[in-house]
Amino acid sequence: IGAGQAGGQAIASLRQMGYKKEIMLFGDEPHLPYQRPFLSKQYLSEEDEEGRVFLRAEKFYADQNITLRIGELVTAIVPSEKKISTEQGELIDYNDLIIATGSRPRRLNISGSDLVGIQYLRTLDDVNAIKPRIQNGKKMVIVGGGYIGLEVASVAVSAGMDVTIIETEDRILKRVTTPEMSKFYHQLHTDRGVKIILQSGVVGFKSNGDSTSLGYVLCNDQTLEADIAIVGIGIIPNTELAQEAQLDCKDGITTDKHCLTSNPSIYAIGDCSNHPNPILNRRLRLESVPNAMDQAKVAASNIMGKEKTYSAVPWFWSDQYELKLQMVGFSTDSNSQVVRGDKTQQQYAIFYLKDNHLVAVDAVNSARDFMAGRKFYGQEMDPIKLADSETDIADSVITH
Ligand code: FAD
Repeated sequence: IGAGQAGGQAIASLRQMGYKKEIMLFGDEPHLPYQRPFLSKQYLSEEDEEGRVFLRAEKFYADQNITLRIGELVTAIVPSEKKISTEQGELIDYNDLIIATGSRPRRLNISGSDLVGIQYLRTLDDVNAIKPRIQNGKKMVIVGGGYIGLEVASVAVSAGMDVTIIETEDRILKRVTTPEMSKFYHQLHTDRGVKIILQSGVVGFKSNGDSTSLGYVLCNDQTLEADIAIVGIGIIPNTELAQEAQLDCKDGITTDKHCLTSNPSIYAIGDCSNHPNPILNRRLRLESVPNAMDQAKVAASNIMGKEKTYSAVPWFWSDQYELKLQMVGFSTDSNSQVVRGDKTQQQYAIFYLKDNHLVAVDAVNSARDFMAGRKFYGQEMDPIKLADSETDIADSVITH
């Protein structure tokens, strides 16, 4: 259930691993499985063919004998009968079920929040509605200074829009990185002309009487003109189906290390899953492509009887302007940090250490540092050598 990144990968992996039984993939969006990262990056900025965002061409599903039930909402799971039901009232049997329902944007419920020109960015249809509104000289207000807001800001300001970001916290990217990295990205955006208002909240929207654009965004301390507002204030995992089927859920659908839910025939993968991470030694709910892909492969392996465990250090990336930010691990786990490379050249990385052991890296335009972060994760490092970009990172690793 769910024809997104995780569901699309799971069915492909099953066939690759030799699964011979019937496979059905249900997705309520009217599209083939596609990759969301493009939506706030290349696809938003370019006169791009829609085709590039799809995980696989339609032919793949026919060739692999996978029944695509696109545009069909699954309305219930009945674990006791091993059946699901669809919006059309059809009941379908399953041997194994994978829930890959993803997540949905957290919505603002304030005055005027259903006016024209207020957009969320989760789906291909969302971005197709936003694209024609990216126009030179028009005004965009972005609610939320997280990845999505910042990626949209970089596209919109580069297209000549007047862009303002409103953020309730005291810095952008607060949920995902350190004050140092937030400061770097704050400077980057303001240098390009984006206005960033911190510690301010949106309390309402008001029309200017023009049915084609928004009008005003009302903040607690000021009113901003806006032709369009993009709201990117986080997501909520789609757990309702699982909850109604009495599966254990807590900030996502609870799974074990095999991506298995509290029911032995039902797996949950991707954004909707809350899973144990044996490397980080705690439970996580992640919102990332690598997590969706890896869990899809683990669930498929387990359905094939291979007893595979999900165990990966989380990583993520974000493209803003000509900069690629690649992150591995969680900087919040650290108690010291080492800067490597030249920040002024916009090519550097912050290595985060806990008692000198590497726990995270944020790398800006520096794939080599990011790769090293993945490779040496958990290793004890010599901070002096690590800070010297002339020294090979491998030489910073302390072996006892
Ligand atoms: P989704 O891809 O959301 O797929 C779930 C699908 O299930 C959806 O189509 C949903 O409509 C459908 N569904 C839900 N309920 C039902 C139901 N009852 N019946 C039928 N279908 C249902 N991650 C990165 O790692 N790097 C990035 O740069 C990055 N950029 C992103 C940019 C944007 C704009 C967005 C929105 C996300 C981005 N992400 C990025 C996050 C990443 O795309 C998600 O983590 C990933 O898509 C999760 O995959 P999923 O399959 O769990 O969920």
